[in-house]
Amino acid sequence: MVEELDVVVVGAGLGGMYALHRFRGDGLRVVVFETGDDVGGTWYWNRYPGARCDVESVEYSYGFSEELEQEWEWTERYAGQPEILCYLQHVASRFDLYRDIRFETRVTEAVFDEAGARWRVRTDRGDDVSAQFLVMATGCLSSANLPNIDGIGDFRGLVLHTGRWPREEVDLSATRVGVVGTGSSAIQAIPVIAEVAADLTVFQRTASYTVPAWNRALTPEEVAEIKADYQGLRARNRAMPGALGSRWSFNDQSALEVTDEEREAEFEKRWAIGGFAFVGAFKDTSTDPKANFYAAEFVRRKIREIVHDPATAELLSPRHTISCKRICLDTNYYETFNRPNVHLVDISSTGIERVTATGIVAGATAYELDVIVFATGFDAMTGSLTRIDAKGRQGQSLKDAWAAGPVNYLGLSVPGFPNLFTLTGPGSPSVLANMFVANEQHVDWVADCMRYLRTKGFRTIEATEGAAEDWVAHVNEVAGRTLYPSCNSWYLGANIPGKTRVFMPLPGFPAYVERCDDVAARGYEGFVLAS
Ligand code: FAD
Ligand code: NAP
Repeated sequence: MVEELDVVVVGAGLGGMYALHRFRGDGLRVVVFETGDDVGGTWYWNRYPGARCDVESVEYSYGFSEELEQEWEWTERYAGQPEILCYLQHVASRFDLYRDIRFETRVTEAVFDEAGARWRVRTDRGDDVSAQFLVMATGCLSSANLPNIDGIGDFRGLVLHTGRWPREEVDLSATRVGVVGTGSSAIQAIPVIAEVAADLTVFQRTASYTVPAWNRALTPEEVAEIKADYQGLRARNRAMPGALGSRWSFNDQSALEVTDEEREAEFEKRWAIGGFAFVGAFKDTSTDPKANFYAAEFVRRKIREIVHDPATAELLSPRHTISCKRICLDTNYYETFNRPNVHLVDISSTGIERVTATGIVAGATAYELDVIVFATGFDAMTGSLTRIDAKGRQGQSLKDAWAAGPVNYLGLSVPGFPNLFTLTGPGSPSVLANMFVANEQHVDWVADCMRYLRTKGFRTIEATEGAAEDWVAHVNEVAGRTLYPSCNSWYLGANIPGKTRVFMPLPGFPAYVERCDDVAARGYEGFVLAS
């Protein structure tokens, strides 16, 4: 029998969890489907050694409940994966979310029934439900990318992906480990693995910029100070680019209008604070090539200071613009390459040729390994959405609709797919913002929209083709004013062979929120509402 619901939410990461809480609070019948066997999303799947947030814990957390933020105690400046998962499990229990989440259940198909104006959703466990609204909380970074390398199935050792790390303890001591990739995940994992493995070989295709996190325990005094005005901190953050960092603030000066000494001093100050404070050193780091060069050169100088072997330092020095790929935060990353058991292999020109039964062949050299860790990222932003067989009006599939890149309005709504919402979808600030804030803003907007439809007697809402076309042009125009699209990044889909290259997230956090609010205030301008 088909189960009748108001809303189906796909995914029980931090977005889907808040969606359930908010929609249920509005009196809607909601069910969440989740592939994993618990809540947490990113923090459920990414259990690799060293995994932790890169937005500070006190900011990387929900702001919707004052009681929750007062009762929860973060122990570190950047919480580790176990602590964040524990927080999300606490939230699920505290707000009684578990009873409406169906775990170990993957949504495979979603078809819009035009006559009934409802979504019919099916899962790999045989669920068959009908709902007025379908909310995709499937995550921007949840579709793990395991590269299709020759011979990968022949390896006799252990193959791991950082984004699908096993729950059981993986004993890497006394092993020869190979890590493929040097993005954020690898940069967190490598220093920790290096301490236990007998030998670690890092296969680097592109060097990354990384800034020290200077992670440390939070003192009771600073926690008390934050809690004394937590909502104030949240409000200040919501007014910041990226919805974070109001405590160290962004410098409004240009890197070009200061003396060399002043510039160096500002970079040093920000390096000492650590994390994203470095990106906020000057207002034009992400827009002006010369300003960007100064920041990049500063990091390259740091690498040369830290890494003893000049050839290794040179290889570790990125050449692309800083921030065109997401900047990484680390604990002793560059220092790790001074260890005798760590070796860096440059695969920028050869790639990995093949995997054999006993290791990896790259640059015509065979590396004998017991474990291969693929830290090779995700089919970002669209991967988890297009893996679902979603069909809108006239049976059009989302995959086909997005073959030339994601087309939607506000990053939330796709023409031809009425009553379907994509939380932190491509075309919204999403991964260029603190993702708790981005998800909360989207959920609140969608909840308000559903309430509007009900009170006004509308059954469907759908973005117009024109609004979506204009929106895609807007995202490209805003991104084009920055240096973000200037290198091969997952923001552009460049990490996935054959994926259309389109810059997907929208740089510009607070302005985007105003735009969403404006659209709603004008009776959902750019949408067609039908009864
Ligand atoms: P997710 O947490 O990805 O949850 C999506 C869920 O949907 C998953 O559990 C998945 O199993 C489920 N799902 C997908 N498809 C289906 C389907 N078809 N059927 C059923 N279930 C499905 N962002 C920050 O702002 N700050 C950080 O410090 C930060 N650190 C990060 C660290 C790592 C290692 C990674 C990978 C990402 C990080 N991010 C960070 C981005 C991070 O993804 C978000 O912050 C946030 O966790 C995303 O939450 P979400 O609910 O939107 O998606
Ligand atoms: P990523 O940034 O996409 O990095 C993947 C790495 O693997 C890159 O170095 C890439 O090289 C390499 N690679 C990919 N395919 C390869 C192949 N076929 N052969 C060899 N090398 C290959 O993925 P990620 O490190 O998992 O991070 C993804 C995002 O998740 C981050 O940008 C960030 O937003 C988030 N994250 C955050 C944190 C945090 O600090 N809190 C931690 C982890 C992840 P190229 O650069 O050449 O493509």
